[in-house]
Amino acid sequence: MPIPCDCLLINAQVVTMDERYSVHARGSVAIGGGSILAIGDIEADYEPNQTIDCAGRVVMPGLINAHTHIAMAMLRGLADDLRLDVWLLGYMMPVERQFVRPDFVALGTNLGCAEMIRSGTTCFADMYYFEEVVAETAAAAGLRAVCGQTVLKFPAPDAASFEDSLARAREFIARWKGHSRIVPAVAPHAPYTCTAEILGACAELASEFAVPLHIHLAETTLEVEQSRREHGMPVVPWVRKQGLFDARVIAAHCVHIDEEEMRTLKESGAGVAHNPTSNLKLGSGVAPVAKMMELGLAVGIGTDGPASNNDLDMFEEMRLAALLAKGIGKDPTALPARDALAMATRLGAQAIDLGEITGSLEPGKRADLIVVDVDQAHHVPRFGRDPGAVYSDLVYACKSTDVVDVMCDGRWLMRDRVLLTVDEDALRGTAGSMARRIDLFLIEREQSVLQKLIAIGGAAELESFEIQVKAKLASPDGVLQALGSDEITVIRSVHYHQYDTYFFFADPTQGSLRYREDEFLDSDNNVVSARSRLTLTGPSREAAFGSVLLFRSRFFAPATHSPRFYREYFRPAREREVEKYRRRFQVAFRGARFWVHIDQMVNPHAGVHFLEVKSRTWSRRDAQDKAAIITELLTLMGARPDETIEEGYVAL
Ligand SMILES: [Zn+2]
Repeated sequence: MPIPCDCLLINAQVVTMDERYSVHARGSVAIGGGSILAIGDIEADYEPNQTIDCAGRVVMPGLINAHTHIAMAMLRGLADDLRLDVWLLGYMMPVERQFVRPDFVALGTNLGCAEMIRSGTTCFADMYYFEEVVAETAAAAGLRAVCGQTVLKFPAPDAASFEDSLARAREFIARWKGHSRIVPAVAPHAPYTCTAEILGACAELASEFAVPLHIHLAETTLEVEQSRREHGMPVVPWVRKQGLFDARVIAAHCVHIDEEEMRTLKESGAGVAHNPTSNLKLGSGVAPVAKMMELGLAVGIGTDGPASNNDLDMFEEMRLAALLAKGIGKDPTALPARDALAMATRLGAQAIDLGEITGSLEPGKRADLIVVDVDQAHHVPRFGRDPGAVYSDLVYACKSTDVVDVMCDGRWLMRDRVLLTVDEDALRGTAGSMARRIDLFLIEREQSVLQKLIAIGGAAELESFEIQVKAKLASPDGVLQALGSDEITVIRSVHYHQYDTYFFFADPTQGSLRYREDEFLDSDNNVVSARSRLTLTGPSREAAFGSVLLFRSRFFAPATHSPRFYREYFRPAREREVEKYRRRFQVAFRGARFWVHIDQMVNPHAGVHFLEVKSRTWSRRDAQDKAAIITELLTLMGARPDETIEEGYVAL
């Protein structure tokens, strides 16, 4: 008596990807209640509602994308060929702050779902903002997903603070826990964008609800160096110390980890997501996945976000994984095709903690599968001698466009390359108009140095007036003598060694940007401490009272990045370096306060002394009053004002 079932796929080459790597040269797959009922020579045993003849086709598990930010499909191609920090902090994050709202996330996720289904992916592990929208959209598209709500130490598009984002994550997890296809998760972005407290709190939250914790780990050498410098150890032991592995961790990247760290990940039951394209594109390196596989780690493959890839094509990703392992290891036997396919299927499912229900075709697992047309020219001929040939074909020759049918949880999402759950045409129009808005935002921003400065973390605008007068000194003695006189009260003084980098722009109305590193010196000229600051000096002098110049508004920002970052981000037309020793005095004179700088130049004008006297005030009227006093102060110091001396003592 045949058993009723929903669907029977017949005459297929069935590549199960089970632990024994069973392949049925000509077999059937019976599906019922969303699960796989049986596989093999079983056609006569079932009475299906739907029979599909898969002659000339491979039936295999749907691919698992173990790490992505699917909604970033809406940002693909926005800014490319940039270093990770410039790309992330200069472009992605500012645009995200401006545009990432629930509608943006729904749009990007829908686009990503369409692409994933078309290219044979049935399950993905995600990390983004408004993750409830990703969950809703993926659920509506019929896909399976581990959705991680991002937690950051900075304000994010969906949370003003880390406490807010953690509360958001808790609410999200509580609401989605138990869904048949969506697994909610918490996603502290990375060790360098979180604090020890955040990592600990996220691990606790994940443990409390028994959900995964998704994080970027050891993506760049910079991150590892920073961890060694700040914590005295590499990334993995440090996050372990914060209790991260109390949770079930999905660790994306792991490009720069040593064998000991791999063992820690394995012992902690963590899964790794290898992202070959993203790591290459951002110049991060190549993760030692062959070694991880040898140690028995659960390593999956991910595309990372479509903004750093720039697509969600898992066929391309697993081919690259296999080829890279060979090229880097100078060993053609490294990461054979079968292993690469296992990473994109069964091991990937294990890596994201869904190994029990998906990742291979086995009775009892959910019916997440794809049908691939292997009758096209690039698959011909097909040899029968080597049972492993089918893996070579699928990894080295197959294209994602060969995927004809996609089923997830027993439901067809694509039949004969027609999408059944996502309206691609409607998405094209909406994505086009969103892209135009983002273009306009960036075009406007790129025209203004100030806007760019604000975009990377806020410049504090001082709506102030600054009066300033400069002089060249034959020797500092006259000034020092005057400072010792009764008429001038020295409130405090500091001695610095200063290194300035000035960026000048093609459009002089943009002003100039100064990156300054101050080394504080003690009385024996030893460096006591150091600090860095960024200053945008207004475009031009607003006015002059005789030789006293009036500037309006300078913008200060702490220089949290390297000069290299600012150079690549601001792309100045020219730059100049200035090095000097500065003695800085705060003085009171005639009831007003001034800064007196005696600068001994090192580069340029080596050995020359300059005097700069300045004061900041809050009104133009006050500036005018102070201009008279400042001139008097200069006369007392025996210096002659020279308005031809430029900012930083370099010709602009
Ligand atoms: Zn990522």
